[in-house]
Amino acid sequence: MNHPHFVGALSRNVIKHILRKSGMRYLSDSEEAEATTYMGQAANIAKSASCDRHKCGSVIVNNGKIIGRGFNSPPAGLEEQRRCSYPKESYNKKVTDKTCCMHAEQRAIMDALRNNPDKLRGSSIYFTRLGKDGSTARSGKPYCTICSKMSLDAGIKEFILWHEEGICAYAADEYNTLSYQYKE
Ligand SMILES: [Zn+2]
Ligand SMILES: [Zn+2]
Repeated sequence: MNHPHFVGALSRNVIKHILRKSGMRYLSDSEEAEATTYMGQAANIAKSASCDRHKCGSVIVNNGKIIGRGFNSPPAGLEEQRRCSYPKESYNKKVTDKTCCMHAEQRAIMDALRNNPDKLRGSSIYFTRLGKDGSTARSGKPYCTICSKMSLDAGIKEFILWHEEGICAYAADEYNTLSYQYKE
């Protein structure tokens, strides 16, 4: 028996299912242009970062408006809390967060929670890091489970990174899953 209509419907559903399962997508056209602007704003904010390892910036956008901003620096801006030069191996395994500074995304989420708490749901978070020359560096694969968890829990819809291949939007739950699956 051959049912071409049935097979066609089935494969379309399979394709839809796969697309739903892998929510990540590279942006194009006006979406890409808009994202490039927000990446530029995140890069501008990154200039205020004081971490000795990397300068990072993040903005959260909802409905065309920036609702949260952040850059990385020691917690509460306290110099005595700076751990940028501590080797990660020096911490006990029970210390779950071995990064040195507050992350730009954590700061942006807290900023949004303080100032625009009702706008977080359905928003997009952009992250960028400055290269040595001050330009916007391209990001690797998602790996920061601190920020992936916080973003998902705060109701953020999408996490946006600028990869070599282009600007990529991940569904927040997918971003969290991928971060936990990260392998170097
Ligand atoms: Zn640092
Ligand atoms: Zn992070």
